[in-house]
Amino acid sequence: MRISLSERLRILLFPDLCPFCRKVVPPHTGCCRDCEAKLPRTSGTLEPVPGTDALLCPLYYEGEAADAIRELKFSAKPGIARHLAKLMAEVVPADRFDCIVPIPMHHSGIRKRGYNQAELLARYLSEETGVPLRIFLRKIRKTPPQHTLSAEERAVNLKGALSLAQNAKPDGLRILLVDDVVTTGSTMTAAAEILREHGAASVCAASAARTRPKGEQSS
Ligand SMILES: [Zn+2]
Repeated sequence: MRISLSERLRILLFPDLCPFCRKVVPPHTGCCRDCEAKLPRTSGTLEPVPGTDALLCPLYYEGEAADAIRELKFSAKPGIARHLAKLMAEVVPADRFDCIVPIPMHHSGIRKRGYNQAELLARYLSEETGVPLRIFLRKIRKTPPQHTLSAEERAVNLKGALSLAQNAKPDGLRILLVDDVVTTGSTMTAAAEILREHGAASVCAASAARTRPKGEQSS
């Protein structure tokens, strides 16, 4: 394969980096072989959270995967979302969905971080799969970060915090909800409830990672 001069220049000036360890990798290969081998992969289809029809998720939230998502959330490195979305696309059967809907973030959170990481993942997943992105949900009330709360507190925390976005028409659609991490699943459950109330035909959930259920050993 011949590589054009401009492509050679791009590789020289902006080499592709492994999104997990930042080592230089050959162009368009995604992550390095070491990280690829170490990624805590799931079987792809996991036990659905209440109110949803499926949970599609490529990684467990541990090791390199957890580091990458923490970086995506807390150190303003949205580029990592592209690679995570590629891994998600491998476990998402695109022909089963009419649209991709990100879990919303309150506008004060977006102002602080500069982006909503769930929406970023959803955008890249939409590019990878060709399934259109729809902003159907919004966060109308600020809530304490979910990861600081217990399971019961999480469910209460979300009550009334999400609502249908203006002009959203989920009626009859097969929807894929997208978030970065699924822990208890209470966010997905609350979001699915709203979409079903407004006529969604089905609601499945997808995330970059899932915390491993208690009692299950990591291998
Ligand atoms: Zn690597």
